[in-house]
Amino acid sequence: MRDFSQTKKLFHLPEGMVYLDGNSLGAMPISASRRVQHMMEHEWATQLIKGWNTANWYTQPNTVGDRLASLIGAAQGTIVMGDTLSIKVHQALAAALAINSDRHVILSDTGNFPTDLYIATGVMTMMGDRHSLKTPAPEAIEDHIDESVAALLLTQVDYRTGRMHNMERITRKAHEHGVITVWDLAHSAGAISVDLASANADFAVGCTYKYLNGGPGSPAFIYTAPKFTDTAPVALSGWMGHEKPFEFDLDFKPACGISRMRIGTPPVIALAALEASLDVWDMVNMEDVRAQSIQLTETFIREVEARCPELVLVSPRDSAMRGSQVSFAAENGYAIMQALIAHNVIGDFRKPNIIRFGFTPLYIDEGDVIKAASILQKIIDERLWDTPEFKAVKAVT
Ligand SMILES: *Cc1c(COP(=O)(O)O)cnc(C)c1O
Repeated sequence: MRDFSQTKKLFHLPEGMVYLDGNSLGAMPISASRRVQHMMEHEWATQLIKGWNTANWYTQPNTVGDRLASLIGAAQGTIVMGDTLSIKVHQALAAALAINSDRHVILSDTGNFPTDLYIATGVMTMMGDRHSLKTPAPEAIEDHIDESVAALLLTQVDYRTGRMHNMERITRKAHEHGVITVWDLAHSAGAISVDLASANADFAVGCTYKYLNGGPGSPAFIYTAPKFTDTAPVALSGWMGHEKPFEFDLDFKPACGISRMRIGTPPVIALAALEASLDVWDMVNMEDVRAQSIQLTETFIREVEARCPELVLVSPRDSAMRGSQVSFAAENGYAIMQALIAHNVIGDFRKPNIIRFGFTPLYIDEGDVIKAASILQKIIDERLWDTPEFKAVKAVT
């Protein structure tokens, strides 16, 4: 479906709000509450423990993973859901380091999200401080790929600027040097066209509460390339990743296939909400979403630059290099964003001075984009941000 006015009707959006923060927490599909209520009343309440079989809770992390696969160019049986993205980064990175155990460099970049780097540090500690973490600037990453690197850990789309790495080219270079790649798709899945299979990615991870609209804290996913699904080393060896969990064997034997990346009991209620969201994704084609996203971001950049010349674009101007977000550097950015939010235009702020806006074609249209730009102009022209209330920093920005 190309007519996104139809998908927009499938989301709950508060009257009058322009929601440009779907890159942090996607909007709620209206059907999610029905789906969750159904799960609670017709599965949990009535079937109780039987639900693991009768309502297919046990296989759900795999079946939902298979549904997600088509959105990011992955083969069936290569994705499984569960846990948080931070945990999935740990699993994938530890597996990559175990595959390349004779090398001792983890290569990432300064554009990566802190949790990915923190997890890398924790993995290094657990492995006896034999590794080092290199973080060049994103633009310089390819110059640092060489035979010393065990694993390349990159977030494809930079959470602050929206700058996008070329996954295919970087993965090719990594493989020429024997490097295992771990791609974080937090700002890619549901935002841009991703083709894991043709890019030849080794591991990929991502969350589902941003562009995929799975709801706050919805489960993350992990992908392993088909060549690794039966053999990937298992760092977090929980019982649900065992080949036969209900044998209650005292020795861990990893499952064949992607199930070895399961850890413990899956979040069944959260998976129900995510399934409702995937029903909406089933109605669209990612190429159309990407084309519409480019149109929305181009409009926003054009409108904001014409109306607010003091704001400096920090996202790439070339849409081919940009994810589905637009960021501007702004003096008093924090207060400007607070004032915008008070005027019902929701974006967010990232230190030191970045105001960030996410564009989600499933429920944001051109009218929203122009309205947001005109309210931003009013706030800046009339200095509406310049009050103590808007300068007081909240816990979550
Ligand atoms: C949003 C985001 C995370 C968040 O990780 P959680 O474990 O879900 O809190 C991690 N990495 C990147 C790159 C992100 O953008």
